Amino acid sequence: MSDLLKNHVAGAWIAGQGAGSALVDPLTGAELARVSSAGLDLPAAFDFARRQGGAALRALSYGQRAATLAATAKLLQANRDAYFEIATANSGTVRNDSAVDIDGAIYTLSQYAKWGAALGDAHALLDGPRMPLAKDGVFGSQHVLTPTRGLALFINAFNFPAWGLWEKAAPALLSGVPVVVKPATATAWLTQRMVADVVDAGLWPAGALSIVCGGSAGLLDALQPFDVLSFTGSAETAATIRRHPAVAERSVRTNIEADSLNSALLLADAAPGSEAFDLLVREVVREMTVKSGQKCTAIRRVFVPEAMVGAVGEAIAGKLARVTVGNPRNESVRMGALVSREQLASVQQGIAALSEQARVVHDGRATPLVDADPAVAACIGPTLLAAHDAQAADRVHAHEVFGPVATLLGYRGIDEALDLIRRGEGSLVASVYGSEPRALADAALALADSHGRVHVVSPEVAGTHSGHGNVMPQSLHGGPGRAGGGEELGGLRALGFYHRRAAVQAGAGVLDQVAAAPWSL
Ligand code: NAP
Repeated sequence: MSDLLKNHVAGAWIAGQGAGSALVDPLTGAELARVSSAGLDLPAAFDFARRQGGAALRALSYGQRAATLAATAKLLQANRDAYFEIATANSGTVRNDSAVDIDGAIYTLSQYAKWGAALGDAHALLDGPRMPLAKDGVFGSQHVLTPTRGLALFINAFNFPAWGLWEKAAPALLSGVPVVVKPATATAWLTQRMVADVVDAGLWPAGALSIVCGGSAGLLDALQPFDVLSFTGSAETAATIRRHPAVAERSVRTNIEADSLNSALLLADAAPGSEAFDLLVREVVREMTVKSGQKCTAIRRVFVPEAMVGAVGEAIAGKLARVTVGNPRNESVRMGALVSREQLASVQQGIAALSEQARVVHDGRATPLVDADPAVAACIGPTLLAAHDAQAADRVHAHEVFGPVATLLGYRGIDEALDLIRRGEGSLVASVYGSEPRALADAALALADSHGRVHVVSPEVAGTHSGHGNVMPQSLHGGPGRAGGGEELGGLRALGFYHRRAAVQAGAGVLDQVAAAPWSL
C-alpha cells in the first residue's frame, strides 16, 4: 500500500487515520498515494487558522502580502518540473494540458502579486466616494472594506488541482484571510505537494495555509459566521452545500462554481472559407481536446446557421480525426486520459444519452489508443455530435458531458440562436465568431446577462485572443443560474468576497483619518 499524504492543520503535518482512499494513475490504474482526513480535529484546526493565521496576515499590509504572493509564485516556478510529473501520473494529462493548470496557477498568483503591490501600506480599502449625510457637508458616510476575521475554506474539483487552489488563494491571502483547502480526492496529490512546498519554505505565517486531504466530513460543520466558503464542483454537491446549516443558518458567505453548458456561436456572415469560420473550427477542436474536455469552461454546444451544419461538422471532424489519444508520456500523443475509469464510464453514458437526440459526426469511442491498454486506461477520443432539431434536443441543453464531447446545433435566425443558448440556464462563457463589429457587439451584450464572460473572436484578434476556455485573472470567472451564481477573479474586484463592507458615518475630520491613515489593528 502506498503512503498517506499528510494534512497540514493547526500548523502541523498530520496523517489521517485508517487506510484512506487511493489516488491512481488513470492510464495504468497503479496506486500512487493515499489520503485520509479521518480523526482530524477540524474545529481546533479552523480555530488556529482564524486566530493565529488571520491575526498574523492582517498585521501585514496589502503590499507585504503581495510581496509574499510574488515569492510564492517564484517558489512554485522553481519546482515546476515536479508538478508536471505529478500531473502526468495523477491526472493523465499531456504536458501542454498540465501547463494550463500549473502555469495558469503561477500566472494568476503573479498577477495578484502585481495588483496587490499597488495597494501599498494600506490595511483596509475604501469602497466608493464619501457621500454627504447633512446639509453642512461635514457629516458624511464612507464605505470601507476590511478583511473578514474568519477563514476561507476552498472545496475544489478534480480537474484543476493547481490553478483551482491558487486562483482562490491569491485574492484570499492578498486580502489577509487564511486559507484551508480541501482538494478533490482523485487528484489531491498536486495540491498537497504545492502546499507542502510553500508551507515548508516558511513564506506565510503559521495558520495562513492549511490543507485537508480526503473526505469532506466535518468541514462544513466547523464553519462559523465570518468564514467564507468557495466551492467548485458538480451542481449536485453544490445543492447539498447550499442546504448545510453553515450556509442556510450561519450565513457563511458562499461562492459556487458548478457545471455549465458553454456555447460557441457562429454568426451568419462567417461563411465557409471565411477567417471567422476557421477560427470557430479551431477553437471548438481546441476546447474539445485540451485536458480531454475536462474544463468547466469547455465548449459543449456549437451554434451555427442551419445551412452550415454540414460544413462545420466536416471541418471539425477532419481535425478531430488527426488527434492522437493515449499515454501522456508518449510524445506523439496529443490528448491523454480522463481522470478515472469512473469518469470514462460517465462520459460514455453521456455520449449514449446525447446520441438519442443527435447523430454522431465523429466517434471518439472508435479512436485507437497509443501506448495504452483500452481495458485499463481511462482514455477516449473526442466525439462530435449534431442535433437534427436544436429545439427538441433538450438533453443537449441540460446534460454536461464532462469530457471531449460537443454537439453542433443549427439555428434559423439570431434570435433563435440566442434563445437556444439561454436554454443552458446560465453558463460560464459563450464565444461569438464573426467579422462584423456591430453584429458581434449586439450578440455579446445580448448574452452578457446569462454568462459570466463573453469571448468575441473576430479576424482582428485571430492571433492574440486568449482562448474561449482560458480563465484569465483579469476577467470575471463564474456564471449565473446553473453555473452556480459565483463570481471569481476579475482583477482586484475578487478581493470583495474576502472583505466585509461597512459604512462609517462620521464627521469630515474622522473620515479624513479613515481615508488617509494606514489601518491600525
Ligand atoms: P464533485 O464530485 O461535486 O466534487 C467537488 C468537491 O466537493 C470535491 O472536493 C469533493 O470531495 C467535494 N465533496 C463531495 N461531496 C461533498 C459534500 N457532501 N460536502 C462537501 N464537499 C463534498 O465534482 P467533481 O467531479 O470533482 O468536478 C466536476 C464538476 O465540477 C463538473 O460538473 C464541472 O463542470 C465542475 N467544475 C466547475 C468549475 C467552475 O469554475 N465553474 C471548475 C471546475 C469544475 P471528494 O473528491 O473527496 O469527493
